Parts: sequence; structure tokens; C-alpha cells
Amino acid sequence: MAAAPAPVRLDPLAFADDGCVALPARGGVRSATVVLDAGHGGPDPGAGGRTPNGATVLEKELTLAVSLAAADSLRDRGTTVVLTRSTDALGSPVEPGDVQDGALTTDASQEDLEARVRCANLARADALVSVHLNSFADTAVGGTETLYEPDRPLAPRSRALAQSLQTSIRTRLSELGRPPADRGVLDDSAGGESSSGHLVLLGPRVPGYIDEPSAMPAALVEPLFITNPADLDVVASSAGSAALGEAVSGGITEYLIGARRR
Ligand SMILES: [Zn+2]
Repeated sequence: MAAAPAPVRLDPLAFADDGCVALPARGGVRSATVVLDAGHGGPDPGAGGRTPNGATVLEKELTLAVSLAAADSLRDRGTTVVLTRSTDALGSPVEPGDVQDGALTTDASQEDLEARVRCANLARADALVSVHLNSFADTAVGGTETLYEPDRPLAPRSRALAQSLQTSIRTRLSELGRPPADRGVLDDSAGGESSSGHLVLLGPRVPGYIDEPSAMPAALVEPLFITNPADLDVVASSAGSAALGEAVSGGITEYLIGARRR
């Protein structure tokens, strides 16, 4: 058997180190390319949660763990995976002045999101899935939701992708004995991460802000709440993040199979 090809950086100058890397499918014929976008990274920790013993867990760590698990599973299913980041970094290289008072500036945050979109378009991906975790001041709030962008021609396919992901994640968590509250498939005007601008990833074009939106069906999963103790207990465990990765992979695969039939 020939050795597996090494990961390929699609455009080393445009992205952070270990950013925008293509990982070839294992075995079988390449059938599709999927971009997995682990939310946040590097100087942008995302939201934080606290374990029962008082340790702080960061969204950026958990989104990467889930994304890497999903990538592994997708490659085994014959899918090429492109990761917008594969380490604790942003999508774009961090430059002097990007972090002020300990936080990423608005401009740097936009550059990061644009780099992630550029990566997806460069990959000519069949689907883009961004992985985040939800957060809320009231720690009793928990559950699973998936977002898509309704105002563009790709919307019906993005909605189908989002629905497939939502179903797969809820099913897998139920199998784990941790059935989540079903917050549903939402369009990105419904709140959640939309106010923080993550959904720029999903489109549509906003002249002067997002000149080049993502060119493929896209969805953003919020499998659980990092601020909810029971949810965090699941996603912060290695079994939980592996299960969520498998669920994301399964949801994408179901979508791809359905898209081939349509
Ligand atoms: Zn996030």
C-alpha cells in the first residue's frame, strides 16, 4: 500500500502556521472536500466554562478537539478535509497591534474570519462547517442548535446541511445517555453567535465588509453550552468530544449522500 500523502498547506503565505491545511481521505476514492472550521484560536479564546473542580476551559480548545475528531472520522469515510486551523492559532497570522488590552481587535477579528472564508473557497469545498460552543449568562441554559444563513441562493442546501448536523448531534448525544435540549435549526438572524459576527463565515456578501463570502453550503454548529455544567461535562471529556466529532462527521456525510441524490 502506498504511503498516505502528507498534509498540504493551500497557501502558506495567506494563513497562520498550520492554518488552511488539506488532509487527504484515507482509502477509497476522494468523493468530496469538506472544510472544518474550529472556532476561535490563539489570542481569541472564545467563551469560557468552569469545571466542578474550578478549572477554566476555553471554547477554542474544545472546538479544536471536536474538529480534529470530526476530521479523522471524515477521512476514514473517504472525504478530503481542509482545516482552517489545526493548532491553537487564528486563521490569519497575528500581527503587532492585533491584540489590545488582552483582546483581539475588531479589525483583526474580521481578518481572521475573512481568512477562514478564503480558505474554504480556495479548497473548492463541497461544504463548510464551523464548530463553536454556545454560552449564556444563565448557566441553566443548555442544548444543541445549528445555524445557517437564509439570505442567499445556497440557503436551501445550507439548511439541509444544518438539519443533518442537528439531527446527527442530538442522536449521538442521546446514545451517550446525554440527550440535549433541542434548540433547533435556526437562521442566523435568530441570535446566538450571530451577534459576535461568526456568521460572516456563512455569507451573504456585505460590500465593504465581506466582499467574498463562502461559496458553498455552510452551517455553524453549537453542539452544547460551555457555560452549562452538564453540557460542559460532556464536551470537555475525551469521550464526549470524540462522540461530537463523530456526530459532525456523520451529519456532513448524510448531507453529502443526500446532495448527490438530488
Ligand atoms: Zn464561538
